[in-house]
Amino acid sequence: MTLALVASAPGELAVQGVTLRTVGDGDVRVRIAGVGVCHSDLSMVNGTLRPSYPVVLGHEASGVVTEAGSAAGLDVGQHVVLNWAVPCDTCWHCEHGEPWLCSTIEGRTGSPGGTLGDGTPFEACLGLGAMAEEVVVAATAAVPLPDEVPLAEAALLGCAILTGVGAARNAARVQPGDTVLVVGLGGVGLAAVTGARLAGAARIIAVDVSEGKEPLARRAGATDFLVASPDLATRVRALTDGRGADQALECVGSAATVRQAWTAVRRGGTCVVVGVGPRDQQVTFNPLELFHFSRTLVSSVYGNSDARRDIAGLLGYVADGTLDLASSITDRITLADVPAAFDRMERGEGGRALVTFPLEHEESP
Ligand SMILES: [Zn+2]
Ligand SMILES: [Zn+2]
Repeated sequence: MTLALVASAPGELAVQGVTLRTVGDGDVRVRIAGVGVCHSDLSMVNGTLRPSYPVVLGHEASGVVTEAGSAAGLDVGQHVVLNWAVPCDTCWHCEHGEPWLCSTIEGRTGSPGGTLGDGTPFEACLGLGAMAEEVVVAATAAVPLPDEVPLAEAALLGCAILTGVGAARNAARVQPGDTVLVVGLGGVGLAAVTGARLAGAARIIAVDVSEGKEPLARRAGATDFLVASPDLATRVRALTDGRGADQALECVGSAATVRQAWTAVRRGGTCVVVGVGPRDQQVTFNPLELFHFSRTLVSSVYGNSDARRDIAGLLGYVADGTLDLASSITDRITLADVPAAFDRMERGEGGRALVTFPLEHEESP
């Protein structure tokens, strides 16, 4: 039996014992060290996303390989971070260098994970189901990590950091000296601030509804902090010689903030939609402003990242200290605390909550 956080229906969460599927030739069993509480997990229990229930939540995780199938290509004891968007390498998008848009990933919320105590099959969230002591996943979803990388904190590489840093570097293409606006400072928004810093932005204006986010934003690299307000674009222009930001990264996912972020960008600048918004809102533009401002409006999916390539690239920044994996972590919790972490997330409080599990070799005798 493995303890796991199971959502049996929207809003119904419980830690319970589950039996994982058996390890196939191409699979690995991973003992989880850390798993982050991501907004997409909340979306799977609050009705925004509609997975098949019951589902074991969790898709931002790291751990140690404890069992490897004959064709897995990974050794027992290998530290890994899990990748929830494993590309197929054969579809049109994969063959054209866009693995983050792989057609086998689109719309997928889960895959068979095993059975609950009463024998009911459950789904593993995004193919991982990592809010659990252990997971069985395809070996291709396990990206090797050097032993020196702090293992529990490395979980964030699998979703928030790859998404936020990639949004700044791959989607917004922030250049040295740029002024970057980041709207919404959850785990992904804080990572977007970090990404802008790594890309060499001279000025990073971070915005959130909660003024309590300012210390986190500054720790990530923000040079300015603004509490969100309807006149955001005017305030950003006042900070940028009347021009507006070179790039805006919208990390909320609402029509109002997309529109604000777009309006706060300079003529010819770029606005990136990183937040996952609802389908029942509309963003409106008039044709004259689209022509006049000559802005680019794009979205960023998983930071437009090739996880295998980009995680390896980020490890260099971890090694030299420019990327602190723990800087956005404000709560270290257990599986049973995840519902309370969702409540804090809905209230807009804190940075990343990280569920940690003591690994045997780290326990004191
Ligand atoms: Zn996530
Ligand atoms: Zn593909």
